[in-house]
Amino acid sequence: MSKSHFIHTLFRPEVLALSAYHVANAKGFIKLDAMENPYTWPLPLKDQWLNCLKDCEVNRYPDPQAHTLSNTLKLRNQLPESVDILLGNGSDEIIQLLLMALPPDSHVLSTTPSFVMYKQISDSLGLHYHGVSLREDNFDLDLPAMLQAIEQHNPAVIFLAYPNNPTGNLFDEKAIERIISAAKGLVIIDEAYEPFANKASFMHKVMHNVLIMRTVSKLGLAGLRLGYIVGENEIIAQLHKIRLPYNINVLTQASVQFALENHSVFEEQTNAICVERTVMFNTLNALDGICAYESAANFILFKVPEDNASQIFESLKSQGVLIKNMSPQGGLLRDCLRVTVGAPEENQAFLNALKTALNH
Ligand SMILES: *Cc1c(COP(=O)(O)O)cnc(C)c1O
Repeated sequence: MSKSHFIHTLFRPEVLALSAYHVANAKGFIKLDAMENPYTWPLPLKDQWLNCLKDCEVNRYPDPQAHTLSNTLKLRNQLPESVDILLGNGSDEIIQLLLMALPPDSHVLSTTPSFVMYKQISDSLGLHYHGVSLREDNFDLDLPAMLQAIEQHNPAVIFLAYPNNPTGNLFDEKAIERIISAAKGLVIIDEAYEPFANKASFMHKVMHNVLIMRTVSKLGLAGLRLGYIVGENEIIAQLHKIRLPYNINVLTQASVQFALENHSVFEEQTNAICVERTVMFNTLNALDGICAYESAANFILFKVPEDNASQIFESLKSQGVLIKNMSPQGGLLRDCLRVTVGAPEENQAFLNALKTALNH
């Protein structure tokens, strides 16, 4: 049997059809492609953190329920008794857990564009994924089209990123409420960018079919891999059954706990990022041929002159600045690039490189 035949007999067709999630090699670049917080911690805080890691027993399995951290997160979010929390190895793992729990022929609904992992994981599990195009004029939900798709496909899960990635906007609250009322399955409000959204959140609206998902990645702890989802006890209990018992390692449990106890550092950093976001937005829009879209997240989507996105992206790269080229995804993202808001000097380097790219 040839190797290729062997592979084809071995794996599900939907797995064979997938492409691996591509992450660009960022070594040596000014890295503005992945919505990371550019700031580190002050040295004394790092020392305290390392001190607290001394007590971690890496010879023991971690607390499978991550009690301490779960309780801290519940308290911070002022969750009532009727709701519970599930932690994941990044919110990516939670998306996977949720979709793994569905019956085989289930439908999954989101918007186009939106966070790519919704589709990637749905596809890998052989589920039926549908992306309803956002409105062309403002990237908001196309409510009639969403309601029609809900009617037609009866999705088991609807993902709404709030703010949305890669467009950066907050969808109309009333439209989300309408979708929640129309949905017969679960509605997941993905609040990955909540730290930058000026308190816009559905956390207080958790109810029978509404779950809120968050992550500490964009806040400044992407390397620790911790996401969480909040929902009614009965739903979270089902998800706990298919979660791997030790999915949050000891170092992550202790480190996120420590970070949350020192949350003011992150508040200063996210505030600085929001200030820079305004500077960057205004500077981008003052450039000839550039249209930047308003963002409630730590990145900005912007449109460049027609058919120039890839050339500008490559020019930035050759000048040592890595952002994300969204144009190959087509549709509303045609001619669009996405830049993460970094530290002031990184943003300045990006803007200088962009000016150079536009003049060629
Ligand atoms: C980055 C991102 C995530 C993934 O977060 P992790 O916790 O790092 O896995 C989830 N949802 C959206 C919309 C994102 O942009």
